[in-house]
Amino acid sequence: MSGPLLAIDGLNKRFGGLLASDDISLDVRPGELHALIGPNGAGKSTLIGQIMGDLRPDGGSIRLDGEDVTAVPTAGRVAKGLARTFQVAELLPDYTALDNVALAVQVRQGHSFRFWADARRDEPLRSAARHVLQEAGLSRLGDAPVTGLAQGERKQLELAVALASEPRLLLLDEPMAGLGAGESRQMVEILLGLKGRIAMLLVEHDMDAVFALADRISVLVYGRVVASGSAADIRADADVKAAYLGEGDA
Ligand code: ADP
Ligand code: MG
Repeated sequence: MSGPLLAIDGLNKRFGGLLASDDISLDVRPGELHALIGPNGAGKSTLIGQIMGDLRPDGGSIRLDGEDVTAVPTAGRVAKGLARTFQVAELLPDYTALDNVALAVQVRQGHSFRFWADARRDEPLRSAARHVLQEAGLSRLGDAPVTGLAQGERKQLELAVALASEPRLLLLDEPMAGLGAGESRQMVEILLGLKGRIAMLLVEHDMDAVFALADRISVLVYGRVVASGSAADIRADADVKAAYLGEGDA
């Protein structure tokens, strides 16, 4: 019997007088794509920050594969298989897409940044990086310098960098934000290709993408989970329509 990969129980986070996480309970099963939707300011990024270990909750617990990681620093969580997208700081603009992924593979293998000079020549590293790009359907980015990439390609590369750590659970905070319609569709295809192999918690406003990808959807409003269920459940939920989807008056 296998339990959830991520289990959040009774999470609370306060910013002064604002309750940004209000008794949040949520789980992600192995291989599941669980989408988290909600209006701006609902507390989605705050939740991701707490799962990743960047923000400390005021109460409640976070378990990864059954183990309580509420007090474990980010690096320890990464070692347990957690990754998030869009750590822009990790993209080196003057290097190629392949170099960036090779560096991330090198970090996974435990080398320090001091050896970066070697990562551009080390054939095993480059070959592992090519494999990561291929797995994500991004082989065509390989030799392109980051500075020459379109916005959508940068987001794809950030995804590849996150995949280089071989995560079991990927946290995606608005991967379609700022993308054009074609780029969004490409991102949906890439995520569909990863689906089932890697569990994902997807924060996204693009509802076409959410409905195309999600096994389950939870809705966050003012820090509270107001609904959670299948895509069909969420589409039909009157409270969700009123609070978020902007339909009806109820
Ligand atoms: P979302 O990602 O759903 O748009 P956020 O998690 O970014 O929402 O923010 C939730 C609420 O918490 C917002 O009202 C925001 O202004 C507030 N907030 C987020 N981070 C901080 C912080 N570091 N200090 C104070 N307030 C914050
Ligand atoms: Mg946010």
